[in-house]
Amino acid sequence: MADITVANLHKRFDSFTAVKDSTFTIKNGEFFVLLGPSGCGKTTTLRMIAGLELPTSGQIEIEGKDVSFLRASERDIAFVFQMFALYPHMNVRQNISFPLKCQGVPRKEIKKRLSDVAEILRIEHLLDSPVGGLSSGDKQRVSLGRAIIRQPQVFLMDEPLGALDSEFRHLMCSELRDLHNRMGATTVYVTHDQLEAMSMADKIMVMNHSVIEQVGEPQFIYDYPSTIFVAKFLGEPSMNILEFEGSALSGSTSLSINGIPIEVSPILEDAQTERLALGIRPEHVSLVEFSKVKGVVETAEYLGTTQILTISSVIGTLKARVDSQIPMARGQQVYLRLSPEHTTVFDRETGKVLMNARYQEAHHGGA
Ligand code: ATP
Repeated sequence: MADITVANLHKRFDSFTAVKDSTFTIKNGEFFVLLGPSGCGKTTTLRMIAGLELPTSGQIEIEGKDVSFLRASERDIAFVFQMFALYPHMNVRQNISFPLKCQGVPRKEIKKRLSDVAEILRIEHLLDSPVGGLSSGDKQRVSLGRAIIRQPQVFLMDEPLGALDSEFRHLMCSELRDLHNRMGATTVYVTHDQLEAMSMADKIMVMNHSVIEQVGEPQFIYDYPSTIFVAKFLGEPSMNILEFEGSALSGSTSLSINGIPIEVSPILEDAQTERLALGIRPEHVSLVEFSKVKGVVETAEYLGTTQILTISSVIGTLKARVDSQIPMARGQQVYLRLSPEHTTVFDRETGKVLMNARYQEAHHGGA
C-alpha cells in the first residue's frame, strides 16, 4: 500500500501535449478514478504512473520514492488491462500463478498465495478449469487474480470493464469495489463512464483536454463542480447550464436572466464578464403553482419513481426531475422554482465557478 504524489507532470508526443502540468496526490488505500472523455490524457497519466511511458517533465513518487524515470518492473505496481488477457493454453491455476513463477517465488509460497487469492475471488472451484470455457465474469476474476497474487503496493486499471455489457459491468463494479475494501491497496482506475466513477471512487479526478478540471470526492464534485465542464460531465441528466448575458456582483442574491429575476445563493466575487451561466441540477428545479419562470413541457421521460421533464422556459430550456406521479403531458404549461441554495454561477469566459455562499460554506466545512 502506498501514497502516490504527482507533481507538474507533462507528457508531449511531438508537438502534441497529452498531459499538461498535472499535480495531484493519491492517498494510501484510496480508490482513485481518472475520469474524462476520450483523448483527455487519462491513459497517458496512468501509463506514466506505471512506468510504461516516461514523462517529458515532472515527478512521480510512490511511497516517498521518486519513480519518475524507473522502468515498470522496478515499481511495485500491477497493471490490470482490459479483461480477458489470459493465456489460453493454461488453466486458471497456471494463469494466476504465472507472474510468481516468472519471479522465481518458491512453490510453497505460490501455493499459499494462490489459495488466498482464490478465496478472495471465490474461484476455488475453478482452479483446474481451462480458461477457454469460463464465463466473462470468471475470466475477469482470473485476470484480477493474476494482478492480486503479486501483492503489489498499487493497482492500476485502464477501463477494465470496457468490453462488458451494462448489466455485467454493474455487477463487476460492485465486485471490484468490494475487493478493494477487503484488500485496501491503493487503486488508480481509468474510465470515461461517470456512473462507474461515481459508484466506485473514493476520489475522482476529472480531466479534459490534457488538464485536470477538478479532484474530489464523488458527491462533493457532483454538488460543487468547479467548472462548467465538470457540471456537464457528471450526472444523468447533467446539470442545467443556462447561458445568459448580465452582471453578477459580490453581494448579489438575485440575477436577471432575460429580464426575469432569479434568486441565487449570495455571490461572493465580482464577475469579470457579462457572459455568464446559471447552473442548477434537474432535481433542484421544482414545479410550483405560480412563478415568473413560466415554461412549456416539451418531453416527459418516465423513469419509475421520477420523471425527467424537458421544459422550454422564459430563461431557457431546462430539465427538471419530478415525481412521476404528477401527470404531465407535452405542451402543458408549468411554473418553475429554482432552489436558490442549489444554484451555481459560472463565468463563461473562463468556464470557472464564481464563488458563492454555498461553495464557501462547503469548502470551509472541510468537505
Ligand atoms: P481514451 O479513453 O480514448 O484512451 P484517454 O483520455 O485515455 O482517452 P490518452 O490515451 O491518454 O487519452 O491520449 C491522450 C492523447 O494523446 C490522445 O489524443 C492520443 O491520441 C495521444 N497519444 C497517446 N499516446 C500517444 C502516442 N504514443 N503517440 C502520439 N500520441 C499519443
